[in-house]
Amino acid sequence: MLRRGSWRLLGSIAPGAPCGSRLWLGPSGILLLQSPECGSGIRAGANPPSPRFSLPSSSDSRPLTSTVPPSSVSAGSGSAIAPSAPVDVLVIGAGPAALAIAAALAERRVAVMALAPGDPAAVWPNTYGIWGPEVDALGLGHLLAHRWSDCVSWFGSEPSRHGHDYGLFDKVALQTHWLDACRHAGVNWQRGLAASIVHDDDGSTVTTAAGTAWRARLVIDASGHQPVFLQRPDDGPVAGQAAYGLVGRFSAPPIAADQFVLMDYRSDHLRERERRSEPPTFLYAMDLGGGRFFVEETSLALAPPVPFATLRSRLERRLAHRGVTVSEVEHEEFCLFPMNPALPDPGQRLLGFGGSASMVHPASGYLVGALLRRAPVLAAAIAAALAEPGPAGGRGAALAAAGWQALWPVPLRRKHALYRFGLEKLMRFEEAQLRHFFASFFAMPEPLWYGFLANTLGVPELMGAMVRLFKTAPNDVRWGLMQLRGRELALLGRFLGGG
Ligand SMILES: Cc1cc2nc3c(=O)[nH]c(=O)nc-3n(C[C@H](O)[C@H](O)[C@H](O)COP(=O)(O)OP(=O)(O)OC[C@H]3O[C@@H](n4cnc5c(N)ncnc54)[C@H](O)[C@@H]3O)c2cc1C
Repeated sequence: MLRRGSWRLLGSIAPGAPCGSRLWLGPSGILLLQSPECGSGIRAGANPPSPRFSLPSSSDSRPLTSTVPPSSVSAGSGSAIAPSAPVDVLVIGAGPAALAIAAALAERRVAVMALAPGDPAAVWPNTYGIWGPEVDALGLGHLLAHRWSDCVSWFGSEPSRHGHDYGLFDKVALQTHWLDACRHAGVNWQRGLAASIVHDDDGSTVTTAAGTAWRARLVIDASGHQPVFLQRPDDGPVAGQAAYGLVGRFSAPPIAADQFVLMDYRSDHLRERERRSEPPTFLYAMDLGGGRFFVEETSLALAPPVPFATLRSRLERRLAHRGVTVSEVEHEEFCLFPMNPALPDPGQRLLGFGGSASMVHPASGYLVGALLRRAPVLAAAIAAALAEPGPAGGRGAALAAAGWQALWPVPLRRKHALYRFGLEKLMRFEEAQLRHFFASFFAMPEPLWYGFLANTLGVPELMGAMVRLFKTAPNDVRWGLMQLRGRELALLGRFLGGG
């Protein structure tokens, strides 16, 4: 149990990880301290500084975002220098979302400036996986470092075979893909930590912590899951996907050769009491070749999130139960990000993209496929709105509105509500129910489960998939699905009412 008001060191990032970082558990649940200076890294400190990224515990209903009025948001101090000549769009950040949208806009001849505290070419700390057909459909299969055809999950004593390739991005290749597009189209990169924003009729002025002011007709906040400026309504506890993993060598192969394991929910290494009363977790694992494997104990979503210490201990016990010990650790991954934040307020004068705009798939945690698919759509809408005839004056609000409409149109908003509705149920399922649920889910025809996970189904198909799942699932799952608790009714209302 957590003692409120106390801080606990959860773990340290392995040597070689950005900034030699540490994770702290704070009074209101998990606190992940990001260091913008080192991408999405995590900042070390003897006394944890004030939080940038906190996932409230279930008893804590503080909003995740600032409550400063949207017309003027400040995240730091510094005396302002006279603003630059305006560009069309200022993108804040240098993560996957920022690069994706900056590249897509610049390719449409929109004048883009991007603002990030560090070198945009600095290697990202996270590794990104994706289903093979998602990258193939975009013609980007060459950006994968690894690709597996033997993809399985375990929801019982026999493996379920997915019959779909899964890939791991070569993250340098993905980053270079977007950076090259930015370079060719003339994106202007600036260094600085965005600290405050002021909107007026014609656009917005962003001032950095060092006091430099940048002017743009539209600002896109792509500063990650805890955005610097973007406002998201308080919608109750936000669940975190938490995982502890390592790349290394083992006394024996932890999974079959050339295999990718999406979800190994086998729990024979746990005591009966643990299975019944503690949060279910699963193994996500891949054979990286040359005797190296990535193994990660993962909690799909929970508020507050499952602590890293629990995940690490679960991983060790799972491996030990199979007679496997770790002989060499190359890299440790501490993964935590919000799964079900509310959608941002579309009345805002700035846009978001990526984690900031709640684009993580609430049922799976995937984001990168959505960035690749949706950046060109958003960029096209912004380019069209910028090209509207008439004086630029007074068009700032119209530009943002056009962007929100393209980023979160009604069908996507409705699907987001439905995914969140489903996740609420999964979060209260006990381990056996979850295994039965996923066995039924992956037994559906492949276009349904794949389209559900990639978020490529239309609203009617998504509803059809859910109805089909309900009909084919065993009774314990149906019973769980029928019960309406907490905010499920509100989410269902949002789905029916247009998101
Ligand atoms: C460990 C981990 C593994 C993941 N694995 C996957 C996966 O396999 N597949 C998948 O699809 N998704 C995955 N995700 C989820 C999601 O894709 C990532 O969280 C992704 O990094 C989010 O991208 P982003 O660009 O929105 O934010 P971030 O990657 O967090 O980037 C934010 C950027 O904004 C900058 N920034 C922050 N504050 C400021 C400021 N004030 N001024 C200027 N710049 C600022 C930061 O320096 C950074 O460059 C994973 C997440 C984690 C944490």
